[in-house]
Amino acid sequence: MTNQEKMKIPRQAMPEQDPAVRRRNFKEVPLGYSKETAVLEATRCLNCPNPRCVTGCPVRVNIPGFIALLAREDLSGAYASLIKDNSLPAVCGRVCPQESQCESMCILGLKGEPVAIGRLERFTADYHRNSSRQEEDETPSAPSGKKAAVVGSGPSGLACAYELLKAGFAVTVFEALHEPGGVLVYGIPEFRLPKDIVKAEIDGLKKLGAEFRLDSLVGRLYTIDELLEEEGYQAVFIGSGAGYPKFLKIEGENLNGVYSSNEFLTRINLMKAYREDSVTPPIKGKRAAVFGAGNTAMDSARTALRMGFEEVFIVYRRSREEMPARAEEIHHAEEEGVKFMLLSNPVRFLGDEKGGLKAVVCQRMELGEPDASGRRRPVPVPDSEFELPVDTAIVALGTEANPLLRQTTSDLACSERGYIIADEDGRTKKARVYAGGDIVTGSATVIKAMGAGKRAAQAIIKDLM
Ligand SMILES: Cc1cc2nc3c(=O)[nH]c(=O)nc-3n(C[C@H](O)[C@H](O)[C@H](O)COP(=O)(O)OP(=O)(O)OC[C@H]3O[C@@H](n4cnc5c(N)ncnc54)[C@H](O)[C@@H]3O)c2cc1C
Ligand code: SF4
Repeated sequence: MTNQEKMKIPRQAMPEQDPAVRRRNFKEVPLGYSKETAVLEATRCLNCPNPRCVTGCPVRVNIPGFIALLAREDLSGAYASLIKDNSLPAVCGRVCPQESQCESMCILGLKGEPVAIGRLERFTADYHRNSSRQEEDETPSAPSGKKAAVVGSGPSGLACAYELLKAGFAVTVFEALHEPGGVLVYGIPEFRLPKDIVKAEIDGLKKLGAEFRLDSLVGRLYTIDELLEEEGYQAVFIGSGAGYPKFLKIEGENLNGVYSSNEFLTRINLMKAYREDSVTPPIKGKRAAVFGAGNTAMDSARTALRMGFEEVFIVYRRSREEMPARAEEIHHAEEEGVKFMLLSNPVRFLGDEKGGLKAVVCQRMELGEPDASGRRRPVPVPDSEFELPVDTAIVALGTEANPLLRQTTSDLACSERGYIIADEDGRTKKARVYAGGDIVTGSATVIKAMGAGKRAAQAIIKDLM
């Protein structure tokens, strides 16, 4: 097929659950490509000699390479090619912001629509997982006699563990929570990233020999210094994320019914608060307000709908143009019935006689001059306060670094905001201690955290072998 003919094929749509149905269930929203659709979409790729898409990918996946194999219907070859560069393709195919990464660079996007790289990545990984091909999965490498500890089992820790296991390291992953996966299990909801997919990726690491120690908070159970000096680990990678919630710091924030998005999502994703037999009290209510407009806010609002809330509001102090969430997430939230209350800022919460939330007082805003972030600064409109009756409020203003490891590790250099200082390869100022992911950069993305974990593993291998 000539390039002209390829360019006439339209970008293949992703089938999705109907908004009216999915707003009340936790099943995944996009349903995935069929094999025929995936092969047709793969055929659109021009296999450019200097592929711009690869420069847009933080881990430099050989995009035309795996897509060309897919177009030839060599599905196991496509998977083998993909997994060389990305150890969690089923996850990244679902949650990476492709529209601002690889797909934003695709040459086809200049005049039309880019190749649906993310959807093809997802298809390739899902096909592999659902087929008997898994029997051909990698086998553990010959032991190198080296032993490393990974603190945190989010994407940075998992990617680091994977590289170290491939190099024959004995790897122990310490995880504070009772399930491994970090934000992939406790933050991103089931309807965007089914948990059995994360589990399958983690099972792959276990098959390679990783030991997971759950309910193990480093800094309390062992310090980093003890892991190095007493427990026999020659290197420690810290991938502890930035999961410490930020609050509004306004009156009434301690009322029952006010949650951080972190607590709200963890209770529902990890502790199954939507089930009557849950270990945590079920979260119930009629009207919820979510403060913030990033991906976490969209996830919280869409989760609240699925918990049975009748009305869910996103309250944001700027306008639609400044909303930091992915366009697709905003679109999905709107389709499902989330209401957007823009240019509005919470001022105080009002409680009832039992200490429960009954309303939030908000203030109208208007946009002034751009601030340090380049976005126009929201300025309060005088005498514009109004009351929004809600029984649940979810504060989704972002997160910061947990101070525990900083406080319990000798000589661990950190920035003023509490993030660990590490170079591009993950080396910290402390010998044999490496770090990467959100604990170094602040909240970022899954693929950036994975890239950091992989580079740190390569540095560990280089330094120790
Ligand atoms: C709700 C939500 C939605 C998001 N959606 C997206 C998205 O769609 N796409 C995207 O690319 N990114 C998204 N992100 C961001 C992305 O998930 C993070 O950037 C990424 O998970 C960071 O990976 P990490 O490995 O650094 O840390 P995390 O994923 O935060 O994992 C850190 C792990 O370390 C554990 N831990 C912490 N301290 C200790 C300790 N002392 N001892 C032992 N264990 C410890 C934690 O329990 C956690 O499991 C989202 C984030 C949130 C919160
Ligand atoms: S830029 Fe687009 S068309 Fe070119 S190789 Fe990458 S995905 Fe294919």
